Amino acid sequence: MSDRKKASLLVVVIDTNPVWWGQRLEDGPGKSLTQFLDSVMVFTNSHLMMSHRNKLAVIAAHTNQSCFLYPRTESQEAAAGGGEPGCSAGMNDGKYELFAQVNEQVMEEVKKLVLTSLEGQTETDSLLAGALAMSLCYIHRCEKESFAGEDLSSRILIIKGSEDNPSQYMNFMNAVFTSQKQNITIDACILDNESGLLQQACDITGGIYMKIPQPSGLLQYLLWVFLPDPTMRPKLTLPPKAQVDYRAACFCHRNLIDIGYVCSVCLSIFCSFSPICSTCQTTFKFLGPPKIAKKKQKKPNS
Ligand SMILES: [Zn+2]
Ligand SMILES: [Zn+2]
Repeated sequence: MSDRKKASLLVVVIDTNPVWWGQRLEDGPGKSLTQFLDSVMVFTNSHLMMSHRNKLAVIAAHTNQSCFLYPRTESQEAAAGGGEPGCSAGMNDGKYELFAQVNEQVMEEVKKLVLTSLEGQTETDSLLAGALAMSLCYIHRCEKESFAGEDLSSRILIIKGSEDNPSQYMNFMNAVFTSQKQNITIDACILDNESGLLQQACDITGGIYMKIPQPSGLLQYLLWVFLPDPTMRPKLTLPPKAQVDYRAACFCHRNLIDIGYVCSVCLSIFCSFSPICSTCQTTFKFLGPPKIAKKKQKKPNS
């Protein structure tokens, strides 16, 4: 019963990569960013409706920046004029006003984001690591600001369509391990390309990774799989766990590798042998026949 009284903070990270969404438009109707946002809005409203103490934040992971869509930051608030910034979701009465406020702000901020970023962006990945770090900071702040005795359980849902970028591997994994340490569950709802990074993130933090078979049924999957709090999930029959791609990215080229060399001092991973570790500058001494003696233990990355 005590779990039910917990306020739940949900941070939704949405992928607004213009290249990926542009390609979806060519796939035909029913797959536009607007329809996607509609589904996400219904989902976030449902979350707020579950309990009047539930809180919400929506963050966009774009190609060149990550930014808050809801609640607005102080600078966004100043630009838009009026309203109250910060952790202000789900208080008192006026539920419908809150829904309207969430939907309006998210739509407005997405519009701004799309309009300011039309010029020549061809990156096919989004800045997920940055969005994740912002989520963690926001959760930390809300937990600090929440009243003494009020238990806040926080989780992050990432809805992603664009490709993974191995160059974000280190930043991303650091954020994932922070989430794990802070007991924050990361869920991933994948619209298109399988994501090795998110598979690892969900596995490490105990969240659900799901590549949805039909993006047009997004809302159904969101309400079915991702609306229940992690505490309620053991009571539900959810889709079976996905296979996890546990490859790590090498620190030299940011490629995902199965087998590599690991620095014995700082544990950096390299795809080819180098006599000096580029991370910690350790020089490896050659003893005997160089190749054999110097070969580091081959290690499956974890
Ligand atoms: Zn490499
Ligand atoms: Zn090293």
